[in-house]
Amino acid sequence: MTNQLSTKSKVNLLGLTRAGFRALFESLGEKPFRAEQVMKWLHHMGVDDFDEMTNLSKSLRAKLADIAVIEPPKVFQHTRSQDGTQKWVVELEGAGLVETVFIPVEGGRGTLCVSSQVGCALDCSFCSTGKQGYQRDLSAAEILGQVWLASKSFGQPKNRGQRPITNVVMMGMGEPLLNFDNVVAAMDIMRDDLGYGISKRRVTLSTSGIVPAIDKLYETIDVSLAVSLHAPNDELRNELVPVNKKYPLEELMGACKRYLDYYGDTRRITMEYVMIDQVNDRLEHADALIDLLRDVPSKINLIPFNPFPNTQYRRSSNNAIRRFQDKLIKAGFTTTIRTTRGDDIDAACGQLVGQVADRTTRSLRWQQKIALQQQS
Ligand code: SAH
Ligand code: SF4
Repeated sequence: MTNQLSTKSKVNLLGLTRAGFRALFESLGEKPFRAEQVMKWLHHMGVDDFDEMTNLSKSLRAKLADIAVIEPPKVFQHTRSQDGTQKWVVELEGAGLVETVFIPVEGGRGTLCVSSQVGCALDCSFCSTGKQGYQRDLSAAEILGQVWLASKSFGQPKNRGQRPITNVVMMGMGEPLLNFDNVVAAMDIMRDDLGYGISKRRVTLSTSGIVPAIDKLYETIDVSLAVSLHAPNDELRNELVPVNKKYPLEELMGACKRYLDYYGDTRRITMEYVMIDQVNDRLEHADALIDLLRDVPSKINLIPFNPFPNTQYRRSSNNAIRRFQDKLIKAGFTTTIRTTRGDDIDAACGQLVGQVADRTTRSLRWQQKIALQQQS
């Protein structure tokens, strides 16, 4: 069982998988189909009050209320961009802030970008989340609660069947594979028909490359994988993604191949590559990337670097990004450029909580580091 207990030691039902519900009802001497009834109330109808669950007897509702809570994350701020992108800054117990971003495609439907940790311990040099340090893991209920919040705000209870959230990407704050059990439980509920019914190809976990956890992931749950590559050789990757010193490229590529072998021929891994001016965006980097990925079936997603206060990096020029993309396409790789959305509400993935955190909880550690850099 994952970390789903609230402060009152009651189970927060938002983080409970179908198997978890079945076990819960069994322990109460109730029939397993109660799991279906309660999950539909929670995730299809957006209900957060036991009294609204009218197909449960009053005594069962009272029994549930005794041992469980339905506690969605608290919304600290909700903003909507001119381009339709929406951002929720969510306040967690212990005053941590994380963000959830909805990026529309067409017809009001779109992708939800979800956070898994408050801050991140991995300290990638180009990432504002990394600069805040690590505060804590989110519980399964806090991760899934972000999907619950967004669905409810789209009026899912009234428009059932429309399912505004077509894709979820674990690309918000934090390294999802370092909060494995809670992330897997939340993705299980996202995929479950009694939850949000999102297909396995449309739930994507993005990782900086925690090799043993990649192996554990494909053995545990079938979801799409994105790898934050960002550099084609160890020397540069050690600098940009320091966890590379622990799991260097050869080991990372090995885990990617095992993931692909496990699922067979048609699967591809999305390789994310942030484009930083004069750092990793030259044609020789593209050549090395082509070599590295020669036998790792991949789609490449180029992400123009998103600047944040006090960063030493700049975004690559549009020309450099185009040239880089052309080279990869000529070598046979499907290569896309991520468009920046929600600029006016500071909503880009990897940019999360920038403004709010600046005013509130920006970590002292980062402030000190910057001060030291400025002195030297
Ligand atoms: N920790 C996971 C998932 C969260 S980061 C990971 O690293 O994959 C989601 C994506 O945003 C990653 O590809 C990350 O490298 C990228 N990112 C982080 N900071 C960024 C920035 N300033 N500009 C552009 N992309 C950034
Ligand atoms: Fe953590 Fe991902 Fe940011 Fe690296 S890019 S510091 S792994 S959130």
